Amino acid sequence: MKIILYDEGTSGELDLTEIARYTGKKLGKVEVELRESLFAADLSPEIIAEYARKIAGAKVQDVSQRMEAAQEPLYGEVEFEKRRLTGKSRAFGVLYDGGWLRSVFSEAIPAEKRQLDCLHIIFTNRMFGSWDDHNKRYHLRTSLYSVPSIISTTGIIEAPARPREYYVLKQQYQSLGKDPTALKESFQGRFIDYEDERLTEVTKGYVVQAVVYHLTGDPFCEDRGCRLYNAHWQEDLIYAQLESGYEFCTRHEEILGKAGENNG
Ligand SMILES: [Zn+2]
Repeated sequence: MKIILYDEGTSGELDLTEIARYTGKKLGKVEVELRESLFAADLSPEIIAEYARKIAGAKVQDVSQRMEAAQEPLYGEVEFEKRRLTGKSRAFGVLYDGGWLRSVFSEAIPAEKRQLDCLHIIFTNRMFGSWDDHNKRYHLRTSLYSVPSIISTTGIIEAPARPREYYVLKQQYQSLGKDPTALKESFQGRFIDYEDERLTEVTKGYVVQAVVYHLTGDPFCEDRGCRLYNAHWQEDLIYAQLESGYEFCTRHEEILGKAGENNG
């Protein structure tokens, strides 16, 4: 197995060198390659325009409408994506359909890298969601495990819910016109925020989820203290990734250990 990590615009939120080091260490002699960008720097303007059009077409226009096909984007939306693809913008306010985004990212993976038993993990600060048939709306996601897998830093910050009291107090602050910074400070440590120094450490757990998905087809674990726990709350995420006192449950330590031996 070989693992390739791609930076698709993480805005310096992650220390990807450290993540690559950790992944290599966790998996024995597996080869980990870190690529600075997903979209090659030498793409022609025509190819960039084509990717920009496709990515803009993956934008969710209405969170209560399931996208059945890629959308026909507006001129301004395509221009926005061109600026992102050429590194002129790191903006991340748009929500994309995770599945459509994945299929565009998949095309960008160089043909010579698309070998069997090669795991591709893309880091981005783009926000993406998946359609929830039960609630009839899109839900923000931290990650999508597939070929390739995508991990969103904005998703890690925004998708798992913050403590309930936070939302109650936030409303009170807003109605009183108080500065929300003080509120964030009083919840310090209880959720991951932008420019949070814990983000790199937390993301390592999501990388291992992608690896375990590749190995077993199931990225998640029921154990609240295992880094494969599928956290829907920030406090659960912080517990699983940082505070439980162990990294993985016995079963997953074993799966990772075996994968390491096979690589060694
Ligand atoms: Zn586990």
